[in-house]
Amino acid sequence: MIAGCLPKVRKTDGAAQDRGDVASGLWEPVRRWDEVDTRPYMQDRAAEGFFSRLAEGKFQSTRCTACGRTHYPPRVVCPECLGEDLEWVDLPREGTLLAFTWQEAAIRCRKPDVLGLVELEGVGNVFTRIDAPYESLRIGQRVVFDIWTSPDGMVLHQFRPTE
Ligand SMILES: [Zn+2]
Repeated sequence: MIAGCLPKVRKTDGAAQDRGDVASGLWEPVRRWDEVDTRPYMQDRAAEGFFSRLAEGKFQSTRCTACGRTHYPPRVVCPECLGEDLEWVDLPREGTLLAFTWQEAAIRCRKPDVLGLVELEGVGNVFTRIDAPYESLRIGQRVVFDIWTSPDGMVLHQFRPTE
């Protein structure tokens, strides 16, 4: 996931996954959501490229010029052929809602918010904000891309039902 809203936690060996690990002190609990750093994790030039294009209203990701594979999330090296010659291409702006949930404190820490998993045909699945009441959604419905600006000024993606 690129657009993370992850609480600050201690580094672990990756084994800490459940509440038992929180209790054991491997994870540092977040006490106040307004103290959480909600900026997307810009770990590489692919993430920077994705979010800078998003800020211009472009929903794009990388495609390998050698094998033709389009990636989501964007890559700096093609996971299929290890090619490094990648280009930015438009992603589908319509997809299928595969799953959704409601969270009290979600992406960008709005309260509450609806999150979902949207399948972009031929590309992959996008974890995203869903701009619709939870009660109105159903699995399998078509959703369309849009951008939104969070209260702290980040331009991110969201999808909403087409109907
Ligand atoms: Zn490739």
